[in-house]
Amino acid sequence: MSRFFSKKYSGLTPYVPGEQPKDMKYIKLNTNESPFPPSENVVRAAEEAIRHGELYSDPECLSIRKALAERYGVDPDEVIATNGSDEALNFAFMAFCDEDHPAAFPDITYGFYSVFAEANRVPYRQIPLREDFTLDPADYIGTAETLFIANPNAPTGIALPLPVLREIIDSNPDRVVVVDEAYVDFGGESAVSLIHECPNLLVTGTFSKSRSLAGARLGFAFGQRDLIRDLDTLRNSTNPYNVNRMTMAAGCASLAEDGLNREHCAVIMENREKCARALRELGFVLTDSRANFLFASHPAIDGEELYRKLKNRGILVRHWRSERIRAYVRITVGTAEQMDALTAAVREILEENA
Ligand code: PMP
Repeated sequence: MSRFFSKKYSGLTPYVPGEQPKDMKYIKLNTNESPFPPSENVVRAAEEAIRHGELYSDPECLSIRKALAERYGVDPDEVIATNGSDEALNFAFMAFCDEDHPAAFPDITYGFYSVFAEANRVPYRQIPLREDFTLDPADYIGTAETLFIANPNAPTGIALPLPVLREIIDSNPDRVVVVDEAYVDFGGESAVSLIHECPNLLVTGTFSKSRSLAGARLGFAFGQRDLIRDLDTLRNSTNPYNVNRMTMAAGCASLAEDGLNREHCAVIMENREKCARALRELGFVLTDSRANFLFASHPAIDGEELYRKLKNRGILVRHWRSERIRAYVRITVGTAEQMDALTAAVREILEENA
């Protein structure tokens, strides 16, 4: 830390992203990316866009907002486009949380929420999930806090049914409820359909997982106009050109062939179920994941040891050191071949350990 670093941030522990190794080619199942590269149309659209790279991108992001609005059946004024959904989430912490509106979210959830809270100096409460990692809706009824709920949750993959979410949203009319739908396309139920009835609902989404564009950084949020305007105030006060030309063009091209994205999601869901069955046969305990990853533990091996031994075999997964989930690894669901390689490596490791 330099002696110039503001006191405001000196205690900040930044979010630690999953490894993006350069030393060798791994089967990369650690950051929930898609195993499918973007289509030729998407690549061409981005290439075409850089031809006008001397000009700033559209600060209103109109093309992608219109395309998203059409795809989800809302008005373009009910959409904001962001640099990954992380940016939308950060704006939500900035816009809807303060001393009088602290944040609350589950103890086991996306690790960035607490970092956003710390960075924005927002007080927050972590609400323990039940022993089996399910969320008890009663903990979220009529709270005094701005709620952040990943649905499906990460890293557990567990999804909340829409009526339960609706009950939580309706019971907190004076607080914003942010529903983070980064993984919704792999078997969750989207809450976007509720925004017209729920003035306190903000739904965030991303092109990083189901649309093969993690590297392009494109996210979005849906909500009623005034909520979106609040986020836009922060966008225009920090980085009005937050979505670059190539990304905006790639996003529009990707939405134009959403059928292909859905086919990819269907393949990933099929691979998820097949891999889950194979892991259960090997003695793993898994949550009921509706996301593009599995959350798994085995009585005979610690999460860190399994992570390390898989890495030695060229397969990357994610593990955590925190007490509640140290036994677990999170395995991104890739192609059938990747999942077969994962299962075979796990089998070998367990046999070695036996
Ligand atoms: N929400 C959740 C639950 C996530 O796991 C992630 C990915 N790390 C994000 C949001 C952010 O993704 P992105 O910024 O790539 O849209």
